[in-house]
Amino acid sequence: MAKLACYSVKAFSTPAATAPLAATTIERRQPTATDVQIQILYCGVCHSDLHFARDEWHFTQYPAVPGHEIVGRVTAVGSGVKKFKAGDMVGVGCLVDSCRTCPSCQAGFEQFCDLGLAGGTYGGTEKHLGTPTLGGYSQGIVVTEDFVLRLPANLDLASAAPLLCAGITTYSPLRHWKVGPGQKVGIVGLGGLGHMGVKFARAFGAHVVLFTTSPGKAADALKLGAHEVVISKDAAQLAAHAGSFDFILDTVSADHDVNALMNLLKRDGNLTLVGAPEKPLPVAAFPLLMRRRSLSGSLIGGLPETQEMLDFCGQHNITCDIEMIRMDEINTAYERMLKSDVKYRFVIDMASLK
Ligand code: NAP
Ligand code: ZN
Ligand code: ZN
Repeated sequence: MAKLACYSVKAFSTPAATAPLAATTIERRQPTATDVQIQILYCGVCHSDLHFARDEWHFTQYPAVPGHEIVGRVTAVGSGVKKFKAGDMVGVGCLVDSCRTCPSCQAGFEQFCDLGLAGGTYGGTEKHLGTPTLGGYSQGIVVTEDFVLRLPANLDLASAAPLLCAGITTYSPLRHWKVGPGQKVGIVGLGGLGHMGVKFARAFGAHVVLFTTSPGKAADALKLGAHEVVISKDAAQLAAHAGSFDFILDTVSADHDVNALMNLLKRDGNLTLVGAPEKPLPVAAFPLLMRRRSLSGSLIGGLPETQEMLDFCGQHNITCDIEMIRMDEINTAYERMLKSDVKYRFVIDMASLK
């Protein structure tokens, strides 16, 4: 097989777990018949980017280019592309491909493909080139049509970028667990994911309680849609809510006590983890046994549900609260993210990558 022709784009990458990100040049394949070529305008900064850049999940291949909350303009399409044309504004999330034949792919749950995350936007395999996939901290990307998403025209592009991961990662479990009116729902952590969890749970009609370690975020949480705020380090505040929640969505990125949260669930209540801390979280038996509670996880969302989420956001005018940064501010942004100092998602203005 002849090697596919490539072109160069500027990007930010890291050569090692302990190194900062810095400017570089990477190769993208020239669009094939089914590909969409995208000029990236904005890319959100997910905490997963930081875990990945620093190899906290132990599968990073270097040099690594993070970024999976991508919005941009279509610059060219392959001859067989039907859904998009040059000039369209589009989104790309955490997946750029999957096997498409396994039961999960056939059911539209590409995130649970039998190939694992081989189709990841970064950390996967560029099957045309046989190289690791490189993410959205770059000027452009080429993605097969089926993994490109339509953006509702009424949404601000930069504020819509984090919907591609933070949005779908919170929307999907809230839908799966049928969160709605009459339910008391907890969202744990007010970061990129958490602030979208609050907005969606509120939009779905639940009574929303935000758990935070940052008392300074309480007023914002109420503005974002929470009915109540609990300072999770205060045992008395937790105790006041014991046994009262139908569902809790845990977005915390670091070590924390899930057993204390489990005790807040009602009979048959569920705690879903979306946070992916580096270290395993110890789970005690009794908080689960009591009241037949359950603990589960959830991973982003499939392509059909991601489009559904974007359309829902278009209809309800939901976007993310963002702080725009330049590409060369990314290392400082990571340090601020580690201090829980993000309000509530950094988004890179890719025009700054000159
Ligand atoms: P983020 O913006 O940094 O937010 C994380 C929030 O967690 C912080 O703002 C903070 O909120 C809280 N927190 C941090 N350290 C804590 C600690 N030690 N104890 C208690 N709370 C703490 O991160 P994000 O982008 O929302 O991502 C959150 C996690 O989800 C990451 O691990 C990320 O990798 C993962 N993730 C998973 C998926 C998936 O598909 N499952 C998708 C995307 C991201 P407060 O200040 O309010 O306490
Ligand atoms: Zn993400
Ligand atoms: Zn599959």
